[in-house]
Amino acid sequence: MKKQVQLYKNKAESVMRKHPWVFSGAIDLASEDLQDGDVVEVLDSKANFLAVGHFQNATIAVRILSFDNKAIDANFFQKKIENAVQLRRNLNLFRPDNSIMRLIHGEGDGLPGLIVDYYNKVAVIQCHSVGMYRAVEHIAQALHSVLKEEVIAIYNKSSDTLAHKDQMEIKDGYLLGNCPTPHVALENGVKFNIDWINGQKTGFFIDQRENRALLGKYAKGKKVLNTFCYSGGFSLTALKNGASLVHSLDSSAKAIQLTDDNIALNQFESHQSIVADAVEYIKNLPEQYDVIVLDPPAFAKHRDKRHKAIQGYKRLNANALRQIKPGGFLFTFSCSQVIDKYLFTNTVIAAAIEVGRNVRIVEQLHQPADHPISAYHPEGEYLKGLVVYVD
Ligand code: SAH
Repeated sequence: MKKQVQLYKNKAESVMRKHPWVFSGAIDLASEDLQDGDVVEVLDSKANFLAVGHFQNATIAVRILSFDNKAIDANFFQKKIENAVQLRRNLNLFRPDNSIMRLIHGEGDGLPGLIVDYYNKVAVIQCHSVGMYRAVEHIAQALHSVLKEEVIAIYNKSSDTLAHKDQMEIKDGYLLGNCPTPHVALENGVKFNIDWINGQKTGFFIDQRENRALLGKYAKGKKVLNTFCYSGGFSLTALKNGASLVHSLDSSAKAIQLTDDNIALNQFESHQSIVADAVEYIKNLPEQYDVIVLDPPAFAKHRDKRHKAIQGYKRLNANALRQIKPGGFLFTFSCSQVIDKYLFTNTVIAAAIEVGRNVRIVEQLHQPADHPISAYHPEGEYLKGLVVYVD
C-alpha cells in the first residue's frame, strides 16, 4: 500500500495553491512505518488526493514532487531534468566561453531538495533531502541520458547538506566517470579551477555570474577591493575587463589560495590577496578604492537572527560607503533568505544616511536565470544586491 499523510482540515490550501512544502504541523494522520525519504501521497482531511512528495521527519515534512498522482520513477526524473536542461539551453548558457551553470535549482525546477551544478562536463549533485539522496541513481541516469556526451562525470556531494542525518550513512562519490580536481571551467571567458571535493558548496558560487559581468562593465581602469572573495570570481572578472588593481580579501586562507591559483591560471597581473576578517578590515582601510564589493555569507539563516543581521549589514555597508573614493561604486549583496530586498535596500540607505554621503542606487541585482524562482514558491528568491554610486 502507498504511504500517506493526511492533513488537518484547513491545512490543504497552500498545497492547492501549488506551494511545494507541507509543514509537520499540518499533518493530522500518517502511515505508521513512514521513513525519511519515503515517497508519500498527501491527502486532504477528507482523504482526497492532493500531491505526492518526499517525506522527512523535519519542519518541512513533505517536499512535493507532483500535484498529479504519478509515479516518482526514472521517467519522472528524466522529464524534469530534460525540462531543466532545456531552460539552460534556451538561456544560452552552454557556450564555448561559458561552461559553468546551475542545472537544477530545487523548487525553482520542480525538484525540491535537489541542486545540480555543472562545471565543464562535470555535474555535481547536492541533495538537501533524504528522498533525493535515495533517488540519486535515477537522477544520475537521467542527467547522463539528457546531457549525453556533454557530461563525463557525475559526483554526489551530499554529506555536508545531510550531515545531521546520523541514522543514515551519507557517502560522497562519483556516480558516473571520474574527474581529477581542480577541473578548469569557464565563466564568460574567465577560467576557474573548480574543486567540488575540497571546496565550499559544490565548489563555486555560480549565483553571482551576472553580477560579476556587471562589475566587468564598470571595472576598466578602476582600483577594486573584493571582500568575501572566496575563489575570486569578482576579482577575475574585474581584471579581465581592465581593472588597474584588484585586492581580494577573505578570512579563509584556503579561499585565498583558490583566488591566487585562479589569478595564475588566467595569467592576470595587478592583483594582491589579503587574508583577514572583512568586518574588521573594512573599519579602517589602508587604501582608497574606486569599487568595493561586499558579498558576505548569510548573516541570518533564521528569522530570529534577523535583527542582529541587519545591524551587521548596516555597519559593514556604512564602513564601505564612508571610505570609497568620490565617484566610486559599491557592489553590496545579501544572500540571507529572511532579509528581503526591501529590508536590504532600507538597511543600505540607513548606512548611507549615517555616513552622510550623497549616494544613488544605480542598479538592483538578484540571482541569475539559472536559479529560477517558481511562481508558487516566492521563498525561492534569496540573493539580492545593489550597486550604489557615491559622489
Ligand atoms: N563572492 C564570492 C562568494 C562569497 S562566499 C564569489 O563570488 O565566489 C562567502 C565567503 O566569505 C567565503 O569564502 C568565506 O570564507 C568568507 N568569509 C566568511 N566570513 C568572513 C569574514 N568575517 N571575513 C572575510 N571573509 C569571510
